[in-house]
Amino acid sequence: MAPEITFFPVGNGDMTLIKLESGRTILIDTNIREPGDGVRDVAKDLRGELKKDEGGRPYVDVMVLSHPDEDHCRGLEAEFHLGALSDYCDDATPKKIVIREMWSSPLIFRRASKTHKLSADAKAWNREAKRRVELFRENGIGADGDRVLVLGEDKDGKTDDLGDVLVKEGETIRAVCGVRQNNFRALLLAPLLADDDEEDEVLSKNESSVIVNYAIGAGNNPDAVKFLSGGDAEVAIWERQWARHKDNPAPLEYNLLSTPHHCSWRSLSSDSWSDLRRKAKVNPDARAALSQALPGATIVASSNVIKDDDVDPPCIRAKEEYDAIARDARGEFWNTSTYLSEDNQQPLKFEVSEGGLKRVKKRADPATTAASSAGLGKQPLMHG
Ligand SMILES: [Zn+2]
Repeated sequence: MAPEITFFPVGNGDMTLIKLESGRTILIDTNIREPGDGVRDVAKDLRGELKKDEGGRPYVDVMVLSHPDEDHCRGLEAEFHLGALSDYCDDATPKKIVIREMWSSPLIFRRASKTHKLSADAKAWNREAKRRVELFRENGIGADGDRVLVLGEDKDGKTDDLGDVLVKEGETIRAVCGVRQNNFRALLLAPLLADDDEEDEVLSKNESSVIVNYAIGAGNNPDAVKFLSGGDAEVAIWERQWARHKDNPAPLEYNLLSTPHHCSWRSLSSDSWSDLRRKAKVNPDARAALSQALPGATIVASSNVIKDDDVDPPCIRAKEEYDAIARDARGEFWNTSTYLSEDNQQPLKFEVSEGGLKRVKKRADPATTAASSAGLGKQPLMHG
């Protein structure tokens, strides 16, 4: 099959599904809110994209959690099966989604729990990841439903005994559920292990997130699309990415970028948007890290509608930067909350071919033709 990448409209939050050429699926984050009143039933959309196993259970091959904020794991307990597969409830309607392999970062959990209280969904994810890690420690690599990869080495030797399931910063994942994929690589760029407590403190306060550059290949082109996904990582994190990769920025290059932190100004600047407005200055290193756009690159803001006001995220000034980056690459900028239109939000889906990324065109249903023919889907670039 042709690989696909789908951004579900979840407001200020993330929920993105990658389908590989092999048919394997990778879900990045989830923000499933109560549907109705302008909120789309994205759980239904997601189930519509997933295959079922021999037991009739819908599943994702991989779910990766960028970081444990509620807008990245909301709906986990309600919609996903957690615990041993032998405890799966067949009577539930709709059936819960099985996560065959979790990609989780205890380092990010440790940093997040220093700065704020974790939600019930976040705690549930952590519990399930720990269950799987414990199983690995006892019995080695488990079967689907018990699998886990741990992203990022933690301090004080906490992750030293994790051998085959530990992925260190700078390493590349090539297998999904233990099966090597032809047209897939996932390069882990963050979290970074801090050299000392002071540095750890800085990284904690800057929304440490898993940052991955996914190479999604098709046919004879293993690099058809590079998709840079960085959760809510903020300015200090991107500064460090630039320091690390400026001599050879290839690890940061992308054909598709999900704007970090829902098009937040805080990923591009240390200045407060609401206090300084137009006087706020861009951090050149963070911007450089986020502007390694390959020709024709697509930039997607998974956020609320971007307006010219004090709100952040999403921030109009951040959008202007991403517009400029997209324009320089002769690319495009999209906002999940205005696709197809603000009143008719639809999943934003791209297909990957040997030639690169292409949006799957949605035909508007007759009831909404008026709204979508107004061309509100793609947010126009700010200038020419
Ligand atoms: Zn977020």
